This record gives sequence, structure tokens and C-alpha cells, in this order.
Amino acid sequence: MHGFAAQAVRPAAAEWDEREETPWPVIQEAARIGLYGFESLADMYGDPSGPSLQIANEELFWGDAGVGMALFGTSLAVAGIFASGTPDQFTEWVPQCYGDKDDPKVAAFCVSEPQAGSDVSAMTTKARYDEARDEWVLSGQKAWITNGGIAEVHVVVASVDPQAALATFEVSRPTVGAQALGIARAAYEYALEYAGEREAFGRPIIENQSIAFALADLRTEIESVRLLIWQAAWMARNDRTFDAAQGSMSKLRAGELAVAATEKAVQILGGAGYSREHPVERMYRDAKIYTIFEGTSEIQRPVIARAISGRHIR
Ligand SMILES: Cc1cc2nc3c(=O)[nH]c(=O)nc-3n(C[C@H](O)[C@H](O)[C@H](O)COP(=O)(O)OP(=O)(O)OC[C@H]3O[C@@H](n4cnc5c(N)ncnc54)[C@H](O)[C@@H]3O)c2cc1C
Repeated sequence: MHGFAAQAVRPAAAEWDEREETPWPVIQEAARIGLYGFESLADMYGDPSGPSLQIANEELFWGDAGVGMALFGTSLAVAGIFASGTPDQFTEWVPQCYGDKDDPKVAAFCVSEPQAGSDVSAMTTKARYDEARDEWVLSGQKAWITNGGIAEVHVVVASVDPQAALATFEVSRPTVGAQALGIARAAYEYALEYAGEREAFGRPIIENQSIAFALADLRTEIESVRLLIWQAAWMARNDRTFDAAQGSMSKLRAGELAVAATEKAVQILGGAGYSREHPVERMYRDAKIYTIFEGTSEIQRPVIARAISGRHIR
């Protein structure tokens, strides 16, 4: 995955960011070499030690978060089917989520609504079984859906089972945290290299403690957040209960680190960091979503607080 991220994703990142389009050629290449599809997801998820899926996500999002999301957006829909579908439904729908090697598809997981984001219980989308037509009929409006409209399969959470969305998010949080970690690491590495080359006052800027210590702190945070993610991944894979909401912890810390690391990287590059000539500007934009989607930071904290206290904290 690292080689693909370095050779196919990074060089394409700025172009697809500017175009604001789904990078289909990159998805097709990933499918062709076996990095996009149900088999590769199953391989990563099947690792009994736990964190293969998270390592793959960190590497891919180190390459670029926008392209990474185009490739891994589908897996959230698959996780939704896995969390609440029957084995028959899984077999029928998951292959359709990915398409095939020569004609890959994407899928979408649809929970949020205009009036129901953090508050999933406010969802109004309904599913009603129409006996005459022998089919389910959905009514309602979804919003903000990654791959919405272009997806081959839309996994829609409707009010017959609102808990399904929550189960999926709990399982996917360490993976989402790993994506944020990949962005943080990419920004840190870029800033470290720049700080060794850029000179001011006759010396490389890294020879100032304010710059060097900031980079030391970032590296320390990156290493510790990675261990938190791997612990949560190991727990999930080995059916350990998240007794202190470790899945939420990993997503919270990684999301906030991604924002802090990219902001610091922009600062270390100075004016250059603010321009599109360097990728840290894009990383800063990409990082911010990680304190918002899959549960905002303000929602993760009460989830953790409830888990450790056993009390109803609002
Ligand atoms: C780029 C992008 C991609 C997305 N992809 C998807 C997707 O694929 N599928 C999907 O279903 N959704 C998706 N979303 C939606 C995302 O999950 C929601 O935006 C998110 O859950 C927050 O909901 P909201 O925007 O309605 O904010 P709100 O719920 O309105 O929250 C607004 C603010 O209030 C705070 N807040 C709310 N309640 C509390 C509380 N109890 N205590 C303290 N603070 C609180 C929040 O933390 C936030 O700061 C995506 C969003 C974006 C921007």
C-alpha cells in the first residue's frame, strides 16, 4: 500500500483536488492491482493481530486523503452491511459495492440528514414494506453523503433500525482514526524536511528550538496516537469490549492530531505553507473533516465519559 500511495496517489493528488472530481483512473488502477475490492478488504480485516486495515489506511491517506477517501469510502457501506445485514444480503450486495477489476464501482453509507447529523435519533427517513409490490419503499432526505449519487449501492439507514448506524460507527472509528493519522504524518514529514532546508537569520529554521520542539512534539503525538489506534484495532478484531470507548478515543485523538499537525506544518512553512505550491495547504483542508464526520469531537467526549463513568453525561 505504501508503494501505491507514493507512486500512484501522491503524484495525482493535486490534480484531483483542483478538479474536484472522483479520481476514477486511480480507483481503476487500485482495482487492477488488487488494492480495491472485497478480497483486499477481507485480507486486511482478516489479520488476527488486528491493525492491518488501519496500517493500510494510514499509508494510503499519507499518500493523499482525497484520493484515499475515494478508495475507502466504499468500505463504510460494506461495514454497514456487515454490521446489520444477513449473510445472504452480504453475499448479494458487497460484490456490487466494488464492481469488478475492469469496471470498479463505489458505494455510499447514508445516515446524515439535513436535521439529523450528530443526533442520529432525529432521523426521519422511513422504510416501509409495500406488500402489493413486494418491495421496501424509502421516504426521506439524506445529506452530506460521501459517494452519494455516484454510488452503485447506497446503504440507507432508515428509522426501522436507527441503532444500525451507531454499531457501524463504533466498528469503523479506529480505521477513520488511522486515516487522520496518515494525514498528520504526511504533514509532519513535509514540515521536518522543509525546516531542515529553509534558512532564516543565516541558519536552517529547524535550529530554532520553537521549530524543533514543535516537530518533536508532533512526532511524539504521532507515535502515541498510532499505538492507541492499534490497541483499538486489536480489541475490535479479538472481540474485546470497548470498555472505555477506545474506538472513540482513537478517532478523537487522531482527528485532533491531524488538525494540529497540519496547522503546525502550515506555520512552519510560513507563507509557502499558505499557498498551493506545497501540499500542506491541502492537508490542512483535508484534516478538518476528521473532527466532524463519524461523530464530532464534541460527541466523542461524552461517549468516552459515559463509558468510563457509567453516568448519563450530556
Ligand atoms: C465531507 C463530509 C462527508 C460526510 N460523509 C458522510 C457520509 O458518508 N455519510 C453520512 O451519513 N454522513 C456524512 N457526513 C455527515 C457528518 O457525519 C455530519 O456532518 C456530522 O455527523 C455532524 O453533523 P451536523 O453536520 O449535522 O452537525 P450538528 O449535529 O448540527 O453539530 C453542529 C455542532 O454542534 C455540536 N454538537 C451537536 N450536538 C452536541 C452535543 N450533544 N454536545 C456538544 N456539542 C454538540 C457538534 O459537535 C458541532 O460542533 C459527511 C460530512 C461531511 C462534511
